[in-house]
Amino acid sequence: MDILRRPSWIFDMDGTLTVPMHDFGWLRTQLAIPETQDILATLQSWPSPRREEAWAFINTWEDELARGARAWPDAGPLLQRLRDRGCRVGILTRNSRAGARITLEAAGLLSYFELEDILGRDDAEAKPSPDGVLRLVSQWGSSPAQAVMVGDWIHDVRAGKTAGAASILVRRHPPQGWEHEADHVVDELAELL
Ligand SMILES: [Mg+2]
Repeated sequence: MDILRRPSWIFDMDGTLTVPMHDFGWLRTQLAIPETQDILATLQSWPSPRREEAWAFINTWEDELARGARAWPDAGPLLQRLRDRGCRVGILTRNSRAGARITLEAAGLLSYFELEDILGRDDAEAKPSPDGVLRLVSQWGSSPAQAVMVGDWIHDVRAGKTAGAASILVRRHPPQGWEHEADHVVDELAELL
């Protein structure tokens, strides 16, 4: 398939490259954010000091989870293959940049990435905004038409598509009804090898 030959690859982190450990249901309960509301958007709407206190809580929670992160077994081999082919690889996550680095290091995946190619919520507008995808391809002197966004959630698919990149959905969840929006769907990263 043509999109697999593209030179610019952007990955979501949690659930896509690493085994998901974030229990967002628990976090929503702790912060009293209903299922129907986006967590990041809700936090932005809160006044001080409630917003800062919530962020401190989330950052501590994420740090603890990050230190225990594990990679899916086929994540390293896929990243290695892409690097061997001369592809650029980046991360676009709704985590903090610092949390993403800790996670990737704990999971044994940090060495596949240039540090400036790991974008967190401090670096770009959160997905589904296409902002992070556009930033990475611009950093690489590439274009969205040369890029693929790989992720396990609708935010990832839409960020890629809105940017003009191809999107690959890694099916890690029960059917959600939006899977058809992705250009390509796989059950395992190994299918991309
Ligand atoms: Mg994910």
